[in-house]
Amino acid sequence: MATVLSDELLQQIATTWGTPVYVYHAEKIKEQYERLLKAFAKADVRFFYAAKALTNISVLKYVKSIGCNIDCSSINEVQLAVKAGYTPENILYTSNNIHFSEIETAHDLGVHINIDSISNLRKFGQKYGHSYPVGIRLRPNIMAGGNLKISTGHSSSKFGIPLEQLDEVLALVKETGLFIRTLHIHTGSEIKDVEVFARGIEVLLEVVQLFPELEVVDLGGGFKVPYKPNEHGTDIEQLGQKVAEEFEIFKKRTGKHLQVWFEPGKYMVSEAGHFVTSVNVLKESAEHNFAGIDTGLNHLIRPMFYGSYHKIDNISNPSASHKHYNIVGYICETDTFAENRSMPEIREGDLLVVRNAGAYCYEMASNYNSRFRPAEVLVVNGQPHLIRRRENLDDLLVGQVDLF
Ligand SMILES: *Cc1c(COP(=O)(O)O)cnc(C)c1O
Repeated sequence: MATVLSDELLQQIATTWGTPVYVYHAEKIKEQYERLLKAFAKADVRFFYAAKALTNISVLKYVKSIGCNIDCSSINEVQLAVKAGYTPENILYTSNNIHFSEIETAHDLGVHINIDSISNLRKFGQKYGHSYPVGIRLRPNIMAGGNLKISTGHSSSKFGIPLEQLDEVLALVKETGLFIRTLHIHTGSEIKDVEVFARGIEVLLEVVQLFPELEVVDLGGGFKVPYKPNEHGTDIEQLGQKVAEEFEIFKKRTGKHLQVWFEPGKYMVSEAGHFVTSVNVLKESAEHNFAGIDTGLNHLIRPMFYGSYHKIDNISNPSASHKHYNIVGYICETDTFAENRSMPEIREGDLLVVRNAGAYCYEMASNYNSRFRPAEVLVVNGQPHLIRRRENLDDLLVGQVDLF
């Protein structure tokens, strides 16, 4: 049942397009989406892929082709979604501290909008009154997520309208005629515990009665996927069951039917991504064996930024006996991918594959140290396709004004 990319294919891709190279497996994305559909079959649910995880236009088009909607974090992502062929009805813009002009553009494009500040909500009400249904992002004051940097719903988080300011929202509704169609929360990323989602539902269902025109409850993203060997992700089937039950009970009690939306990012694309790198140098010191690879925090920053664990496989020497390595990058900063990691013996030139490299990896890449960003390859039906060429020196100069 597991959908895997073979090491042979990754090797072949590295030979064809060089390293480092990001490889994404289309059928794995599809498998994840189909698991969601199946798990939530008993509930009235729509899924919006959180595009910020990975925005290559071919990936956006692929996600559209399997029937998924899209959630955007900036007006540029909204424009990319339009370019990828999504219709406004299938595009959601969940903003965070953005200028009101972006909300006006989103309105003119006709996409769904979640607003996350009283200030922008007031402007929206004053300009559009009841004419355009809108969502509000609430801050539910729930602590959740893999670490503090990716926790977004707690009581000192910058995200959303604090629950305790609902009175102000209601006053605005009264004053401007705002049509509140959706209540939204997104409590964080890498939430394993179904109970956390259950608490989010509880918090929202307590306040939905305040908004008689409400049609949708949007529970955001944050499903956990396994990164470490033997680690487990969110129990999606249990969550699907829970959501179906809770909203059925709510409907029986109030007579009101609510649609549920989710915005999975990591869940959709993390495991589909494989970052193929090559070992430049080995360095031995008294304390560590260093394996220096042909990439760094400029291409994949999650371990250094969040302390994230990524599994790394030596696909060139998989059956060798194990040694301990610090796998480090080539950037003039400390960019450690893995510390004291037990691995099959590494030789210079070996290909090391960083797993779970689909979400928030290429997407956070930069040109630091004037390095080129890597190529991206999408494997569809066993066939690898280049979906972004590696950069070159001209790319580094694009947009610069040569003054002297
Ligand atoms: C980042 C984000 C998501 C996706 O989070 P994942 O952990 O990747 O599932 C969903 N909704 C909003 C509003 C986000 O900012």
